[in-house]
Amino acid sequence: MVVRTAEAFRKKSSIDALTGHRVERIDSAAGRVTGQGPDGKAFALAYDRLLIATGAEPIVPRQPGFDHPQVAVVKTLEDAHAIKTRLATGAVKTALIMGMGYIAMEMAEALRLREVSVAMVKPRAELLPWLDLDLAATVRRELDAHQVQLYTGFDVARIDGGQRPLAVYDTNGTSLSADLVIVATGVRPNSALADAAGLQLGPAQSIAVDRQLRTSNPVIYAAGDCADAFHVVTGQRAWIPLALRANRAGWAVADHVCGKEVSLQGVAGTAVFKVFDLQVARTGLTMAEATQAGFAPAAVTISTSSRAHSHPGATPIQVHMVGDKRSGRLLGTQMVGREGAAHRINAPAVALHAAMTVEQFSQSDLAYAPPFGPTWDPLLVAANQLLKKMKEE
Ligand SMILES: Cc1cc2nc3c(=O)[nH]c(=O)nc-3n(C[C@H](O)[C@H](O)[C@H](O)COP(=O)(O)OP(=O)(O)OC[C@H]3O[C@@H](n4cnc5c(N)ncnc54)[C@H](O)[C@@H]3O)c2cc1C
Repeated sequence: MVVRTAEAFRKKSSIDALTGHRVERIDSAAGRVTGQGPDGKAFALAYDRLLIATGAEPIVPRQPGFDHPQVAVVKTLEDAHAIKTRLATGAVKTALIMGMGYIAMEMAEALRLREVSVAMVKPRAELLPWLDLDLAATVRRELDAHQVQLYTGFDVARIDGGQRPLAVYDTNGTSLSADLVIVATGVRPNSALADAAGLQLGPAQSIAVDRQLRTSNPVIYAAGDCADAFHVVTGQRAWIPLALRANRAGWAVADHVCGKEVSLQGVAGTAVFKVFDLQVARTGLTMAEATQAGFAPAAVTISTSSRAHSHPGATPIQVHMVGDKRSGRLLGTQMVGREGAAHRINAPAVALHAAMTVEQFSQSDLAYAPPFGPTWDPLLVAANQLLKKMKEE
């Protein structure tokens, strides 16, 4: 779905949206960008202020076979249309998805709904390494229940496209066959232009920006997936490419260029996605991230009910919560459930922005009615148990 067309930008907002124009160089000394327009025609545009919002690009391995037409990425609408067109031919009976992140999971669901057999592969042993093991086991069961074949520890070495179906080999010589291969192994920031222009880079080679979204050159801004942000829990620079913070950063740049005061607080890494009938959500730090950031973390994992226990239709909901034993601060929360996980994560997300302690969070007046949760909300059950654990340890 196209949310807003270039034509709407031109007509409604008087923005000269030059689609089909690729910037190839930023000449910061001259205040100019140059590149190629449609039909390869060179163009040059001068600027007083420049915003780099070049997003991120899918990481595609360089091993042999990845240039085969039956190997696809899922980044743009065109990518999705191309996959749908292939599926419509009826020739895709089996698909192999490289990666087990949220885009990979969403693709697995979309393909299974179209009755395509799906295998997912990744080199590491863990399904979702950032997710608590008990919660990850629930996600695994959901994938199993929908006949998604999972091959962890499968490190793709090459794709043999000389035959149909394609043969995908791992480094040990084991092979899996598929009519379609989808590469969903993560993204990297499109920061090469900024790097070539001498701008400072941050984590994962994203463009380093301050709280006003200025790069190391004060007339050049960067926003969205190409840029970093400050993490509200650690205070450190972080690269977490997600849509809300991209959108918010874009608006903030416009405000700042127009002379308004801007200071973005940062990101908590709040994210949510669907795996068939499961909602998976997270905000803040994992135990490993908390340790790495110098906290003394403790964590609990609880399982309770999505509705009052006697209410029909109640399903399990799991909460994993992390706190800092030294300061008492809440550091992060993860949730998995069939209902009530996706939006509940916003409560701990706000608590992270407010730097609340686990004790303060445990005292929050959260909503209760039988169809929506137990009297003690799952988040409060987790916070109470975490509080106990933090005092004991
Ligand atoms: C399949 C998929 C599902 C997603 N689901 C979610 C979700 O559920 N929730 C969520 O929060 N996020 C989601 N995301 C991430 C979200 O889409 C991104 O965080 C967001 O689009 C980033 O916006 P952006 O403007 O920074 O980058 P983009 O939307 O990638 O836009 C970058 C633009 O810059 C252009 N560009 C790049 N290089 C140049 C150049 N040299 N010259 C000119 N133009 C250039 C590109 O053509 C593109 O139009 C998803 C992403 C994908 C791929």
